[in-house]
Amino acid sequence: MSETGPFLSVVVPVFNEARQLSFTVDAIASVMVREGWSYELILVDDGSGDGTWQEIVRISAVNTAVMGVKLSRNFGKEAALCAGLDRVKGQAVITMDADLQHPPDVIPEMVRVWQSGFPIVDALKRKHCRQGFVQRLGARGFYGVLRRLSNLDLRKTSDFKLLDARIIAAWRMLSERETFYRGLIAWVGFKHGEVHFDVAKRTQGASKWPRLRLVQYAISAILSFSAMPMQVVTTLGFVFLAVAIPLTLQTLYNKFTGHASDGFTTVITLQLIIGSVLMISLGIIGSYIARIFEEVKNRPRYLISDLTGGNEKPDAR
Ligand code: UDP
Ligand code: MG
Repeated sequence: MSETGPFLSVVVPVFNEARQLSFTVDAIASVMVREGWSYELILVDDGSGDGTWQEIVRISAVNTAVMGVKLSRNFGKEAALCAGLDRVKGQAVITMDADLQHPPDVIPEMVRVWQSGFPIVDALKRKHCRQGFVQRLGARGFYGVLRRLSNLDLRKTSDFKLLDARIIAAWRMLSERETFYRGLIAWVGFKHGEVHFDVAKRTQGASKWPRLRLVQYAISAILSFSAMPMQVVTTLGFVFLAVAIPLTLQTLYNKFTGHASDGFTTVITLQLIIGSVLMISLGIIGSYIARIFEEVKNRPRYLISDLTGGNEKPDAR
């Protein structure tokens, strides 16, 4: 850290936030100015269709610390985060949402925790005023399953984090195509510091995560952190075998003692159960194969169609 204070990078994935963006940028900039820190603010437009990019171009013309990266289409928040993290130059990087649900006022506290020797600072949600009952139940179920299957406890974590440049170097060594930012930052290890924040209400626009997409996101996170579902299938297979053997012996006994037709119900029931277990198993195996397929294709995580505020040429990572 230099005497003039740290040089910080802030990465914000942005999707259809044209009305909100200038408030967010102002809030972040005023924290930086107040603390007297130099910074770069990387806004990644994740294929917005509402004039977000024009807004980024406008803001970057006014504020030279702002740099815009435009993805060629909507690649999802994870890819947008990757695009930002691939370009950061700061001694520490802060990742946060564009809707001010991650309050910039927490940043100074995060920086102090980082300066006291924690290369990763997780901002943990204290309370969430927006979530309804179903969403809370879903989130609890997801984190519970993930914790049991992969030993990652992500219950209160969010994508609001501060990462030291060393962690960014480690992040760049991860080559998987489908990233799960929260999980991977837990996976890299190192000392994690904590700060707490209240999730504010969204002031403009709506959440960009339809229920179905959240469910897909949760499944993808579990698949990338645990092969346990496949082992569950094997265990189920053995359990069914254990049930099947005595039933088969009983059926044979009935046959030899002349009560063969009694077994009819059993056969039908067994067929149904085994059929469904087989289908579930194939589904789970299929999900992993699909994942292998995605990784093997080795496609770039995202494509960039435009840049502003920096002088680099568009490329893909
Ligand atoms: N976002 C994105 N790509 C997407 C969806 C969302 O870059 O496909 C951004 C969005 O602009 C915001 C952040 O990800 O900065 C979190 O999105 P949102 O507020 O909709 O999620 P929630 O707070 O409901 O979890
Ligand atoms: Mg939000």
